[in-house]
Amino acid sequence: MTLILHKMGDRIWKIIKTISDMYEIDLERFKHRRPFELLVSVILSQRTSRENVRKAMERFTRRFKSVEDVANARLREIEAAIKPAGIWKMKAKRIRNIARQLLKLEGGLDSILKSPYPEARKILASMEGVGPKTADVFLMAARNEPVLPIDTHIFRIMRRLGVADEEDDYESLRLRLEKETPPEMRMKAHLALIDFGREICRARNPRCSECPLAGICSSRRKT
Ligand code: SF4
Repeated sequence: MTLILHKMGDRIWKIIKTISDMYEIDLERFKHRRPFELLVSVILSQRTSRENVRKAMERFTRRFKSVEDVANARLREIEAAIKPAGIWKMKAKRIRNIARQLLKLEGGLDSILKSPYPEARKILASMEGVGPKTADVFLMAARNEPVLPIDTHIFRIMRRLGVADEEDDYESLRLRLEKETPPEMRMKAHLALIDFGREICRARNPRCSECPLAGICSSRRKT
């Protein structure tokens, strides 16, 4: 049993290391954003490309200057600003709800960012529209929290490579990957895995012939 666990640990590390080494990742990309903008960009990034998020954030930050602005805005104004990010009706509602909830919270986002990880995550995840993944990505981006958030790309890659199965959920897979990934590498690993999922191990037509992990992947396409 111990041997099997060791083997799984080695496998995870090989996957994380190989994929992290494939990409030049700009770890400073979140630095220029204020915390509320970061939270909005995490909400906007659901089911869309980075380019669409960039366009939507440009419009959003031009129109809204504070949490109060957003909390008091009409939904259709927020919708118009974030349109390039897609599913704007749902996202606009979520963003305004979050802004309103933050205004009720003493110290707002700053106080959350000063709290220890379990508490910060609990407060964020208790807000309507913020789940554990959004909370983790936000904390990772806003204060370099050493977490390795799991998105749909990472789930798919890990399933194909035999690291995750149907029994797994967000928490079990996150903890499994974090156990094998040094804290200082987790942000890079998260971002590199997403790039790999978008470019190589795509949901449809994965590019297995270009994949450096094809030799250990039983899901590889034989073509
Ligand atoms: S071999 Fe194909 S399915 Fe397997 S990890 Fe690589 S791209 Fe994904």
